Amino acid sequence: MSLEKYDLIIVGAGPSGIFTAYEMKKNDPSVRILMIEKGRSIEKRKCPKRTTGVCVNCSPCNITTGFSGSGSFSDGKLSISDHGEVGGDLASYIGHRKFSEVLDYTDGIYLKFGADTRVYGDNDQEVVEDIRRKAFQADLKFVEAKVRHLGTEKAYEIYSLIQKEIERMGIELLFNTMVKDFIMEAGPSGNQKITGVETDDGARYYADKVVVGVGREGSNWLKSMCDRYRIDTQVGTVDIGCRIETDAAVTAKIDSIFYEAKLVYYTKTFDDKVRTFCWNPRGEVSEEKYDELAVANGHSYKDEALKTKNTNFALLVSKHFTEPFNSPIEYGLYIARLGNMLSGNKVLVQRYGDFKRGRRTNQERLVKNNIQPTLRDAVPGDLSLVLPYRLMLDIVESIEALDHLMPGLAGDGTLIYGVEVKFYSNRLVVDDTFQTNIENLHVLGDGAGLTRGLMQASMNGVCMGRMLTGTW
Ligand SMILES: Cc1cc2nc3c(=O)[nH]c(=O)nc-3n(C[C@H](O)[C@H](O)[C@H](O)COP(=O)(O)OP(=O)(O)OC[C@H]3O[C@@H](n4cnc5c(N)ncnc54)[C@H](O)[C@@H]3O)c2cc1C
Repeated sequence: MSLEKYDLIIVGAGPSGIFTAYEMKKNDPSVRILMIEKGRSIEKRKCPKRTTGVCVNCSPCNITTGFSGSGSFSDGKLSISDHGEVGGDLASYIGHRKFSEVLDYTDGIYLKFGADTRVYGDNDQEVVEDIRRKAFQADLKFVEAKVRHLGTEKAYEIYSLIQKEIERMGIELLFNTMVKDFIMEAGPSGNQKITGVETDDGARYYADKVVVGVGREGSNWLKSMCDRYRIDTQVGTVDIGCRIETDAAVTAKIDSIFYEAKLVYYTKTFDDKVRTFCWNPRGEVSEEKYDELAVANGHSYKDEALKTKNTNFALLVSKHFTEPFNSPIEYGLYIARLGNMLSGNKVLVQRYGDFKRGRRTNQERLVKNNIQPTLRDAVPGDLSLVLPYRLMLDIVESIEALDHLMPGLAGDGTLIYGVEVKFYSNRLVVDDTFQTNIENLHVLGDGAGLTRGLMQASMNGVCMGRMLTGTW
């Protein structure tokens, strides 16, 4: 049993946790910080599937756990638009003025560690207006957003340098260790107060404050902690949908100007909000594992030699549930499990032509298809056996609308991978220092439902680090 006492324990070494540690230690070098991470250190993070094309079910998954969390093998698209509409809700907690300042500062840290200086979405007003007009004509809302693209291999390099810097600063890192429980005691007014954490090997670590940044990967565990210790949460939305893969020529105009398009569509039949997300020009569709569950995702490389001929992006339907239902994560998991049941725990793929006609895509049809899947072990199948009717229709109506902006997208050969689910729906109730109703327990990033992307998760960490050192 450890009796170590720290100023701060950070659970999870994803971008939100890393930037908390970095900013806090920078502002006050005397603080003792321990970061506990269930995955591996960055140099030991290797995804065999990247070279062999076959997932060997690493436990825990190297794509979503380890130093820099879901960041190191991500596509590394940093949303740097200061209106705060993209990648989370941080602006609603810190205000737009502070948001702009923290954005510039955090972007500066990425640049310092080697991020590309090019920003997409900053140029060619004539083409921008043409895209905006076509979007408007198709009833699509076009959210103009600037993007700095790190690229998958470059993101890994940048986070490797950040790990070195974190170590150099004297922040203690404990890898391959999962926090399984909180240590609580009664505060002076009978309220609960956190004093430390217990890890899966039975060790106990104590600190004045605990910051939890466990990402989507840890959101189920965090929910169980909320249930156990009565940590206040609010029912959020759940985003469910699929990943679309098309010929890169279909999206080329948008890719070259914006790198990715943030498009929102309200469907004609159900008036559901559908949005494009995580756009990967000339990239690859990838598989993300949540515990044993395979769901779709995507990324792209910076290196020209590693680029493909296809572009992929997610098409997500945002569902907000009302009373009495309060388990959106469970709902998302249920649909993902259904897909996995049919595919033997793999991602399903279907041609759009088959999806519309209500027939299964089999190996024969897939081989003849005019584009080939970049996710090589995706299983050809029938998504209509997985997605509820409402989601199916939302996806079809959205693809038809997007086809006005990107002619060819609604062609039979476009591929649909399913399912893609975003598990950031369990939003914790926090005050303006991201503290929960438990004294000294702060939460941040995707796992707390506050952010949905690299930049805002990193910014959330910067805010936290400043708040904890009184430099906010
Ligand atoms: C394949 C992929 C591609 C992506 N591409 C992009 C992109 O291009 N642009 C973008 O903006 N966003 C992208 N994202 C999303 C982005 O990676 C996340 O928004 C961001 O990493 C969230 O940061 P975080 O710190 O909140 O959580 P995470 O990065 O998820 O980190 C959480 C960490 O906590 C650890 N953890 C969980 N539970 C425990 C526990 N109980 N004990 C100890 N440790 C624990 C996990 O192992 C993990 O390392 C992508 C995500 C994926 C998976």
